[in-house]
Amino acid sequence: MQPQSIAIIGAGTAGLATAALLAQQGHAITLIERAPALEPVGAGLLLQPAGLSVLHRMGLYQAMYRYGAHIDALVGHTCSGRAIMNSHYRPLGEQAHGLGIHRASLCHVLDSHLQTLPHQRRMGCTVSAVDAQAHQTLVTLEEKQRTDVLTFDAVLIANGSHSQLRPSDWTRYDRLYPWGAMWAMLPMAAPFDVPLLQQRYHRASTMAGILPTGSRPDQPETPLASFFWSLPVTEIAQWQQPDFAASPFEKWRGALHTFWPQLDEVLTPLTRAQQLTPATYRDVIMSKWGDNRLGVIGDAAHAMSPQLGQGANMALLDAWALGDAMQQSDNWHQVWTHYHQHRGPQIRFYQRMSRWLTPAFQSHSRVVATGRDLLLPVLNHLPWMRLQMAKTIAGLKTGLLR
Ligand SMILES: Cc1cc2nc3c(=O)[nH]c(=O)nc-3n(C[C@H](O)[C@H](O)[C@H](O)COP(=O)(O)OP(=O)(O)OC[C@H]3O[C@@H](n4cnc5c(N)ncnc54)[C@H](O)[C@@H]3O)c2cc1C
Repeated sequence: MQPQSIAIIGAGTAGLATAALLAQQGHAITLIERAPALEPVGAGLLLQPAGLSVLHRMGLYQAMYRYGAHIDALVGHTCSGRAIMNSHYRPLGEQAHGLGIHRASLCHVLDSHLQTLPHQRRMGCTVSAVDAQAHQTLVTLEEKQRTDVLTFDAVLIANGSHSQLRPSDWTRYDRLYPWGAMWAMLPMAAPFDVPLLQQRYHRASTMAGILPTGSRPDQPETPLASFFWSLPVTEIAQWQQPDFAASPFEKWRGALHTFWPQLDEVLTPLTRAQQLTPATYRDVIMSKWGDNRLGVIGDAAHAMSPQLGQGANMALLDAWALGDAMQQSDNWHQVWTHYHQHRGPQIRFYQRMSRWLTPAFQSHSRVVATGRDLLLPVLNHLPWMRLQMAKTIAGLKTGLLR
């Protein structure tokens, strides 16, 4: 395709990876981000083999691996010690693995690569509107007290799950999940310094997890663990009240000790509710992700619950598919035809799976939790199912049997 001027809105995983891939092809990229600088915000993400293969192809795998924590499996037990989840990457090959990584390190490696390529960036600018026309696309930018309207050949919306910019007439479904999480980043401690994402459950209403996360770029010597605690969104506000102080927090710590005593050491630095950060998730289904001079990628296009750990992977796969589509096409119509063919089945499969699976881990349903506790251990013993589960977690599936 002839070089195009393209605005990419949002400097997260999707925006940074796409900017780098398209800048490399000679397109004139302008990256627009509302944060004044790429700060070390966020917690741990699990990069799956599918996402890691994109990093391999971009030549960034080694750089990412230096910051990350090698993960061999996802394991989950009930508080009585019964194994419910036991999903290893090994059935996919001796070398197959995931990588626990801090969001800041992921963005840092992508951004360092992008900095080596010609592009422009507008930091501290919030896009308030996008207007796609037949021959150009207009972007309205708010910077401090100023409003600017910029013109590009095309615009890619990559501004995350809570995007207000995705076209409403392409959005079939957009709702907040009723459950979210409180999370904290903590220095790694035994017994979690092992290559496992570990979870513990009581029914589906109580869940905690620990992911080895490697280190942040500004503190490369300190290995970290991401701790998360699942809870209904309606309870998040009360955690943030200034008076959610000593007493309820101490009570929660006491209950956590009974629920998962091995957490005590890693949670030692956690002394106040305010050290935990809330996270909410959306479930977004779109009828299409691109048309003519406008596209939507990453969480903005297909936000899902983090139960299958696919957010960053899907963003990297979107970036790669779009780069590939641009290289193989002569015009935007062909780009989106190619993109939909390649991304459609996989995005739809993972959206469906995360929508089906999430209530088994985050809900008040005892029936669903009992079904999970009976079914998953049996499935873990069937080699074919173990392989399908490994492929699903790895981000390699495009349908139930594909
Ligand atoms: C602050 C933050 C913390 C996160 N922490 C975690 C975590 O701990 N664990 C996890 O699994 N996932 C986390 N995520 C989500 C995770 O990064 C994504 O699922 C995944 O990386 C896909 O990324 P994305 O690029 O589609 O969206 P995101 O990573 O959400 O990036 C979107 C970017 O767009 C910018 N933006 C938003 N609106 C505008 C606007 N109007 N104009 C300009 N810029 C805008 C945002 O500032 C952000 O940088 C976090 C996301 C953010 C933004």
